[in-house]
Amino acid sequence: MRKKKGSLSINSDNIFPIIKKWLYSDHDIFIREVVSNACDAVTKLRKLALIGEYEEADNTQYRIDVIASPKDKTLTFIDNGIGMTANEVNEYINQIAFSGASDFLEKYKDKATDDQIIGHFGLGFYSTFMVADKVTINTLSYQEGAEPVFWECDGGTEFTMSTGDREVHGTEITLYLNEDSFEFANEYRVKEVLGKYCSFMPEEIYFTNADAAKEETEDFIESEAVDAEAADTDSEDSVLGEESTTKPEPKEKPINDTRPLWTKHPNDCTEEEYKEFYRKVFLDFKEPLFWIHLNMDYPFNLKGILYFPKFNSEYDTLEGTIKLYNNQVFIADNIKEVIPEFLLLLKGVIDCPDLPLNVSRSALQNDGFVKKISDYITKKVADKLSGMFKTERETYESYWDDLSPFIKFGCLKDDKFNDKMMDYILYKNLDGKYLTLNEYLEAGKEKYENTVFYTDNEKVQSQYINMFKEQEIDAVVLTHNIDTPFITHQEQKHDGVKFTRIDSDITNTFKEDISEEELKDTTDKLTETFRKALDNENLNVKVEKLKNASISSMITLPEETRRMQEMMKMYSMMGNMDPSVFGGEGQTLVLNANNNLVQFILENPEGDNTKTVCEQLYDLALLAHAPLDAEAMTKFIARSNEILGFMTK
Ligand code: ADP
Repeated sequence: MRKKKGSLSINSDNIFPIIKKWLYSDHDIFIREVVSNACDAVTKLRKLALIGEYEEADNTQYRIDVIASPKDKTLTFIDNGIGMTANEVNEYINQIAFSGASDFLEKYKDKATDDQIIGHFGLGFYSTFMVADKVTINTLSYQEGAEPVFWECDGGTEFTMSTGDREVHGTEITLYLNEDSFEFANEYRVKEVLGKYCSFMPEEIYFTNADAAKEETEDFIESEAVDAEAADTDSEDSVLGEESTTKPEPKEKPINDTRPLWTKHPNDCTEEEYKEFYRKVFLDFKEPLFWIHLNMDYPFNLKGILYFPKFNSEYDTLEGTIKLYNNQVFIADNIKEVIPEFLLLLKGVIDCPDLPLNVSRSALQNDGFVKKISDYITKKVADKLSGMFKTERETYESYWDDLSPFIKFGCLKDDKFNDKMMDYILYKNLDGKYLTLNEYLEAGKEKYENTVFYTDNEKVQSQYINMFKEQEIDAVVLTHNIDTPFITHQEQKHDGVKFTRIDSDITNTFKEDISEEELKDTTDKLTETFRKALDNENLNVKVEKLKNASISSMITLPEETRRMQEMMKMYSMMGNMDPSVFGGEGQTLVLNANNNLVQFILENPEGDNTKTVCEQLYDLALLAHAPLDAEAMTKFIARSNEILGFMTK
C-alpha cells in the first residue's frame, strides 16, 4: 500500500477537544469502548464461521488481550476478530463513520454538563484520545488476500495510513498515553477498570503486564500455534502452572465471565449459582432473601436478575444497586430513568440490548419505550411477590419484615405497583400473626368496623396494648419510619378505612356506658384540682369509668393532631420551624373514676399529698404515651424517690 496521508473527515475541526473535555465524564470509559469493539470484532468472525462465510483455522481460540506497559506508558488491545481492510479503516475510522457524530455535536455542543450523556456508543474508538497523545491501529482483515493496514494518528485531525505487519486476522490498537493518563498503564488501575466495565463481556479477555512478563507475552502474541499446543497437553500445562507461581500474572485465566448467569435460562441455574453470582457481583456476603430472573424476548429484549436483600436491619441503609448492561457491556449503576426509583433498593443486573443509550438522560426519561421497560420490571416484581403470597404464604410471611419497607416504598412511589400489591400487604398483629388488611378488618367487624388500631411502640404503649388485649381487640404493629406516610396513603386507597394509634382515644369498649352528663360534676372537680396541682390552666381533663380499675390515668391525642404534629416535627427537623411550638398540644389527660388514686384526689382536693399524687399520675400517663423529656424525667425520678420515702417512714 502506498503511504497515505489524509484528514479525518468530520464536520468540526474541534472534535478532539470536545471528546477530551466532556464527551465522557469518566475517562476510564475508553477501555470499555475499545474492548467492546474488540469483542464485537470477534463475535462477528465467530458468526461468519458459523454461517460458513469463513473457515476457521484449527484450534482457533478467540480472545482479546489487554497489555499494559508501565515502562513505555502504553496500553495495547489485541483481538483476533474480523480485522479491517484499508477500505474499512477509511470508512469506519477515517470518515469517523459514526454517522451520529455530527448530529451528536450539533445536539450537545451547547450543553455545559457532561453527566447528561449516558455512555454514548458511536464515538467509541475516538474516546481513546481522551487519554492518548498518539494511537496506532495494526489490523488484518479475515478476508482472503487482505493486506495488513497500519494507521496512526496523533490526536490532531491528520492521520497516516500504510502497510502494516500483522500476520493474524484481527486488530491491535496501541495507545501512547498522555501525561495526565499514565495511570492507565498501571496494572491495578487497568484491572480495576476492566472489572468495572468488562467483567461480563461475551468474549474472553486476558490482561498482561508487559513489563513483568515481557518474554512470555511476545511469544504469545507472535504465535498462536505455540499457545494452542501448550494448552493441548496436560503435562505442559502443569509445568506452566508451576512456573507461573513466580510470575505476577497467571496467564490463562480470562478476567471476565463470558456467560454470566443472567444470560442463561432460569431452568439451567441452580440456587447456589444465584447466590454465588450475588456474592461476586455485589460483594455482599449476607444471603439474599430471594431473586427474580427476568428473561424476555418480546416485545423487547431484556434479561436480568433482581435480588431482594435483607432490608430490616436498623443499621443498614436502604440502598441497592442495579447494574445496567447493554449486551453484556456495563453501562452504569442505578440509572433512574430506566429503573423505577423504588427498585433501586434491590440489587441486581439488567441487560437490555434495545435501550436507546445514545441519547441524553432527559430524553431517556421521556422515552415511551424506556417507560415500557420500566413498567415491565415493576410488573414482574409485583407478580413475583403476589405469586409468593398466593402459593407460599408462609415463606412470604417469613420474609415480610425484610420486604415490608421496600414494598411500602414501592406502593408510595408507584401507583401501578400499589394496585397490584395492595391486597398482599401484611400487618403484624399483637400476637405476632401476619394479616392482610381485609383479614384484620374482617376479624374485628363487630368491634371496630373500619378502624385499624396500631401501635408504633410496643414498649412505651404497653398499657394501652394490655387494655386492648383484655377486651380482645386486635391492633397491628407499625414501627418503621415509612409507616407514617404509608398509612396515610393506604387510607386514600381504601375508602372509609382509618388508621388510629391505640392511644388516640378511649373507645366505648373500654368503658362503662355512662353519659358525659353524669360525670360532669366529677370532671369539673378533678379538672380544677389537676390544673392547680400541675400549674397548667390549659390542661384538658376527661373523666371516664374504665372497666379496668387498675388503670389510673392515660393520655390521649387525636390521630389527626398527632399526624399533623409529626409532620411539623419533620419540617422543624429540616430547620423550618421551632419544635417547641407543639409541646403537649391537643393531649387530653384521661382519669379513671373507678381507680382508687383518682378517688383519693376527688375526695381530698386539698390534701397534703394531693399535689404529688396528681403530678405522679400525670407523668405516668405521659410515660405510657411517649418518652419524657430530660427535665420531666429528672423531676419524675426525684418525686418517685420521695414517694418511696413516705412509704418507708
Ligand atoms: P461503534 O463501535 O459505535 O461503531 P467506534 O468508533 O467504536 O464506533 O468504531 C467504529 C467502527 O470501527 C466499528 O463499528 C467497527 O466497524 C470498526 N472497528 C473498531 N474497532 C474494531 C476492531 N477491533 N476490529 C474490527 N473493527 C473495528
